[in-house]
Amino acid sequence: MKAIVDQDTCIGCGLCAEVCPAVFDMNANGKAEAKAGSVPADAEAACHDAAEQCPVEAIEVR
Ligand code: SF4
Repeated sequence: MKAIVDQDTCIGCGLCAEVCPAVFDMNANGKAEAKAGSVPADAEAACHDAAEQCPVEAIEVR
């Protein structure tokens, strides 16, 4: 499983980095980005939660 943040859509609210810090970090532009590589198995549920809760649906999980 992999998470991708659309940099054009993200509004930098920080929610995903709070809900799932194992996967999401805020970058120098104030946008969220997913750490490189696959989502760790023990972070998949939180990653899905973050994607669902993102207010602008900027997170794609696949
Ligand atoms: S929850 Fe959505 S809008 Fe907020 S920082 Fe994460 S990707 Fe960006």
